[in-house]
Amino acid sequence: MGDSMTGIGIDIGSTAAKVSIINNEEIKNFYMPTGWNSRETALIIRQKIEGLGFKNYKVIATGYGRVSVPYADKTITEITCHAKGAYYLYNDDITVIDIGGQDTKVISIKSGKVSSFSMNDKCAAGTGRFLELMANSLGITISELCSLGKDDTAIKISSMCTVFAESEVISLIAQGTKKEDIASAIIEAIISKVSSLVQKHGNNNKYFLTGGLSQNPIIIDKLSKKLKSPIFTHRDALYAGSIGAALLSIE
Ligand code: ADP
Repeated sequence: MGDSMTGIGIDIGSTAAKVSIINNEEIKNFYMPTGWNSRETALIIRQKIEGLGFKNYKVIATGYGRVSVPYADKTITEITCHAKGAYYLYNDDITVIDIGGQDTKVISIKSGKVSSFSMNDKCAAGTGRFLELMANSLGITISELCSLGKDDTAIKISSMCTVFAESEVISLIAQGTKKEDIASAIIEAIISKVSSLVQKHGNNNKYFLTGGLSQNPIIIDKLSKKLKSPIFTHRDALYAGSIGAALLSIE
């Protein structure tokens, strides 16, 4: 451990900080909440890395908080790192859909490289933040929200704006609408928002889901039905950005 071939990728997202360590062709991943102070989070990450016995390593930082990693040798944008990591995990050209805490990205990969990308970072409605806020209104976790909302419903959340959607949810609760129906309507709202970004991005027929929401089979199933295309993922898909950064650090 700790030889010159150790590469570390740190992806400081809006919600979670993801870390990947490549050593002797093995990848270790861990994550922690970003919290209020991403600089402090970065320092805790360094302590953890050194606690694992790594002393001599290269670090590439990526993600929204990439500038808060003072010990990084280099920073690289999320798009490049995500594409690199997703290509490593899927091992073929594909279109990556990354639904994170505060933005959603669609990245097409051709011959292992980014060929085009689209991004929604202006509006919370098609991101993890939307699910978080709605789960809070219902007093449940995101996982509980997804399980409750696995079936279809006739109830619709008509507002495209998160703030108005939240008031709609609150009035549905007040009217005594079943939690299951509200949950389904919430999931339907985020799925439509994400799929319209994907469809605008254009002509693709298979997808690889990364980011926090890739951990949820109900999201994958519903998005796949909406896009009428298979959606692949990987148990480490949450780490696509940090894995990509770690790989780039040892190139
Ligand atoms: P960021 O890079 O912006 O920090 P992530 O890709 O790490 O975002 O994703 C964080 C988001 O993932 C959270 O906002 C949350 O909505 C969502 N999330 C976390 N766990 C789950 C889960 N089990 N099911 C669905 N969504 C989840």
